[in-house]
Formats: sequence, C-alpha cells, structure tokens
Amino acid sequence: MLDLTPKTLADRKALRINPCKTCQPVGALYAALGVHRCMPHSHGSQGCVSYHRTFLTRHFKEPAIAASSSFTEGASVFGGGANLRAAVKNIFDVYDPDIIAVHTTCLSETIGDDLNAYILEMDIPDDKLVVHANTPSYVGSHVTGYANMVAGFIRYLADPRAPKGDRIAVFPGFVNPGDIRELKHLLARMGKDFIMFPDQCGVMDAPMKGVYEMYPDGGTPIDDVRALGGCRHVYALGHAASEEPADVLDKKCRVPNTVLPLPVGVAATDAFVMAVAAGGAVPEDIEDERGRLLDLMLDVNPHLHERKLAIFGDPDTVAGLTAFALELGMHPKFVITGTPGEAFVHRTEDILAGYGVGDCTVKAASDLFELHQMVKNHPVDLLVGSSYGKQIAKAEDIPFVRLGFPILDRYAHSYMPMVGYRGAMRIVELLAGAIMDRYDRDCADEDLEAVM
Ligand code: SF4
Repeated sequence: MLDLTPKTLADRKALRINPCKTCQPVGALYAALGVHRCMPHSHGSQGCVSYHRTFLTRHFKEPAIAASSSFTEGASVFGGGANLRAAVKNIFDVYDPDIIAVHTTCLSETIGDDLNAYILEMDIPDDKLVVHANTPSYVGSHVTGYANMVAGFIRYLADPRAPKGDRIAVFPGFVNPGDIRELKHLLARMGKDFIMFPDQCGVMDAPMKGVYEMYPDGGTPIDDVRALGGCRHVYALGHAASEEPADVLDKKCRVPNTVLPLPVGVAATDAFVMAVAAGGAVPEDIEDERGRLLDLMLDVNPHLHERKLAIFGDPDTVAGLTAFALELGMHPKFVITGTPGEAFVHRTEDILAGYGVGDCTVKAASDLFELHQMVKNHPVDLLVGSSYGKQIAKAEDIPFVRLGFPILDRYAHSYMPMVGYRGAMRIVELLAGAIMDRYDRDCADEDLEAVM
C-alpha cells in the first residue's frame, strides 16, 4: 500500500503527510469524559464533533458522547454565541448532565468567539455548571487539547478555599482507563487517599449492564475537582499532558506539584512509587511486582537485546516506551511524535544519552511519511506505535506492536495497562511476542523449536 514512498528525505516545513497526531478537541473531549456526569460540547460544526466522537469510539469501542453548537453559515459569519446559548439550554433540558465542558474548534477560534464572555452572560441553572477550554486545531495536537481541557476544569472549579488536608492528587496523563486502574492499584496498595483527575474508568470502559447509561458510574466527581484546591500535593504524570494543568492548579490554589514521566518501565515506575511514598515504606507486594518484572526482563533479554526499533506516537507515551526499550537492552533508532514541542526532543535525547545511545533520530512535529522514509533507509527490527503504523509495517515487512493512541483495528488494548510494573510486563510480552513470531515465521523447519 505504501510501496511507492520514496527513500529520499525532503525538507518539509508546512506540509504533514500521514500525520502522527489528531486535533485538539479529540483530547479535550476525552478529558471531559473523565468527569462524572459531564457532557462534552464541541463549539463548531457538526462535522467536527462527528469526527472527534468517531475517533474516540473506534479506539475505546465505547460510545463517546458529545454535543455540538451545530454551526452553519450564519454562525460562521456572525459568531456562535446564539448557537451556544441554545445548545446549553437544550442539553440541560434534554440530556440533564451536571456539567457541560465546551471546547472550541478551528472555526470558532478563527471567528474569534469569546467563550469566557458567552459563558458569563449565559443563563445557567443554579445546580449546573459550564466550563470551557480553547482548543484550536491549527496548533498543538490531541495531547495539548487534553491538557487544555484539564486546565480548563481547574480554572473554573478548583477551590482555593477548599479545606487543606493530607489528600494527594494524581493527574494520570493521556492514557487508557486500564492505565488509570493500574495507577489506582499502586496508590491503594500504598494506602494513599487520592483524587484521580481526570478519570475515564467506568466511562470509557463501562461494564455491560444490559441498559444504556448516558452517564455511567465513573469519572471524577465534580466535588473532587473542587477539592483539588485543598490537596497536599499533585503528582502530574507526563510532561506534555499534565504539566500545564499542574501549573494552573499551583497558581490558582498554591498546591505544589511534582511532574514525572509517565510510569512506563522500571525507572519511571520506581520514580512514581518513591515520589508518592514520600519517604514512607513501599509495600512488599509492590516490591514483588517489581521483582517479577525484573525476572521477566532477564528471561527475554536474549531475544530483545540490541534489537533496533522505531517508536512513534504521543510524546509522553513515546518517551516512556523509549526509556523502557533501553532498560530492555534494545536500541531505539527512530523516535518521533506528531505533537510539536522541542522539550520532548530534549527530554528523550537525555534519556538516550543516559544509556550512551547517540545514533537515534528524535523528532517532534514529525509524521509517518517521514518515519517511513527513515526506516526505508535504515531498517529496524520492530515498529511500535498506533494502528497507523501498520501500512509501514506491511510495506517494509517489519514486526509491529500496537501501543499508544489510537488503536483502531484491535480489541482490549484500552483495558490493559502500559504503566506500572504490571503494565511493563504486558509491554515485554508484546515486544518479545512480535520478535519471536517473526523468528518462527522465517526460520528453517528444523529450528522451529517449541521450547525456549
Ligand atoms: S476543523 Fe479543526 S477542530 Fe474540526 S475536525 Fe478539523 S482539525 Fe478538528
């Protein structure tokens, strides 16, 4: 399918081919689904929100609810204030959420709609809330849209007068519900009283109960979003997704924070566990989980050692996977994200330098066409990333592991963790399985051993 991709790399500044990101509202919508009884709302045309909902639904295999301001020509010329007012009234009347989280789109941002003013002047029922975030898609990516929406909730709701206590907060970053459950497992084992925000567990992995629930049990309660202002400390996971919301909370409510990489792999999970333990003891069963991961890493080392790989996807995920690949003795050759921002490049190059790897190409604001050209010129043993890598994998006949967002052509990924020691074990299984399946495919019959 991509057999005609040329080998010669050309310097492109304005054009992206086969992008490695999607638009800001997709992330904003996902963040809003992590608040209990929240209706995400797209302030733009119906076409935008159809795309955003479909994208999330295809990854999570769950309905992603959202409403729209339904812009037509009139709103595009005269502004979307009237549309938003009508939409908010209809949504509260018909769908009865507790809160509407409005994100903007390219169109409403280009018109210059002032969402702050619209919401201030709006007739909102006493027991209901409307918040917003600006998410134009000609800048950033779905990851920045996620961060903007999380920060938007904090700007509107976090209460600086909330009673100060010993509770901590964890911002999980742009991850699956399976990851959030794994983080909750670690926090619960350490006996921590915490607020997880946002929390898509129970919303984007809601159990089948035989009846459709528009607002399932999951999501961070609104009172907990308010109570963020009284937390003792925030652990913000993933620089791209969680640093800005943590800064906004600090500025508004003076809640100190520690920004950590996504806890993918041994060192990053250690950093999370030790930071949260704050000098206290780490339970023995968590140490055992770590020990089992190390045992597994030793077992698979002969198959993964020095294997060359290319990793693409969201910046926090890709940085975490790169660090873990290095811990496994693998050799990252190409590491790219579509999300703009040189901070990702510097952080990832620092990780690589820590392992003495100086021949890995790291790029932000890149695309899959460029990645394809890179691996055409310098073949790798393994490709790791979203479903959009499968055409490259097929064209170049490279083993392929789906990790990250979006995964549109497989099932169960959103239930499975990538973070924590147990998440790392799953990554090892996927990486080693792909390499060993390839060996089995290509080896001579007499080498097809059934026992390692
Ligand atoms: S117009 Fe902008 S906001 Fe709408 S789908 Fe396209 S990129 Fe996303």
